[in-house]
Amino acid sequence: MSQLIARILLAIFVIPIASLIYMVAFIQSERWLYRWINYQTYATYRDIARMRFGFSGLIAWAFLAIWWFLLWRKSVRWNGTRIGLTAGAVVLAAIAGIIVAAILNQSERGFGDFIGSATAPLLWIVATIFVWRETAAERAARVNNSGQDAIVCPTCGYNLTGLTEPRCPECGTQFTLDQLLASQPSRTRADLET
Ligand SMILES: [Zn+2]
Repeated sequence: MSQLIARILLAIFVIPIASLIYMVAFIQSERWLYRWINYQTYATYRDIARMRFGFSGLIAWAFLAIWWFLLWRKSVRWNGTRIGLTAGAVVLAAIAGIIVAAILNQSERGFGDFIGSATAPLLWIVATIFVWRETAAERAARVNNSGQDAIVCPTCGYNLTGLTEPRCPECGTQFTLDQLLASQPSRTRADLET
């Protein structure tokens, strides 16, 4: 299994696992919230249900965000704009979730809270795909750079450009030509980023 395939599989499984975490958080939140609410002022059953959906949504979202970030952080070209848009997407997704909840609550009270709390993290994930993917200019620069990569010694990184035999003059290691080609750093990148 290549690195890229493994990452795509991990990306596919994040949503079902986050759904499980949502359900567990929802079940557990009943005990926690009722214990806490005993000391609070009057709260209706609906207020408590709304809090439980919100709480479960936040827990699932936090899990999703950490998993998603760890999975893709190395292949995202981080800059000020990307970090700002990623944070802005959190706010927009939360607002969208609240709007969805308000609209659906008009026809089915409580159901809207559930859908809204699930909508926000899902919208954020979709937004990050657009924010994190490389722009056309970034892709052009990357392809350009990988094309210019010199053949280097896999053992010590010495530039082997112009040599007529597959032996590193720096560290003395000998290779066959296919070993040399297969172990080039640019090849590993090409496997990860296509
Ligand atoms: Zn060497």
